[in-house]
Amino acid sequence: MSDQPARTPPSATPSAATALHCPTCRAAWRSVATCPRCGADLTALMRVAVRAWELRQAARAALAAGSRAAEALALARAAGQLHTTPHGQRLLALALLMNGQMAEAAAVIAQVLSASRH
Ligand SMILES: [Zn+2]
Repeated sequence: MSDQPARTPPSATPSAATALHCPTCRAAWRSVATCPRCGADLTALMRVAVRAWELRQAARAALAAGSRAAEALALARAAGQLHTTPHGQRLLALALLMNGQMAEAAAVIAQVLSASRH
């Protein structure tokens, strides 16, 4: 039997924020329907952002319910996969804490703090 440590915190750093970009010129998306740089139609991005927002709303409702922490975490993760926002990351950290996933929650919180320091 190998003497592996009881609990190894996830060594992989959390993936970089899923920022939305213009598919044509890669300009950072700023909640507009048309890319200000190249004029591309960005309504598809808007739909993704709206879907992520809906998932965050559902996650927040599940967290508020108190007994649906696992559901809240799944929703917060799904939202983050579509579109990562500071609010979404805070929601994810809260959901992780409520599920007892302290190591990942700490990693997400550190990410939020470093992002808000600019
Ligand atoms: Zn563009």
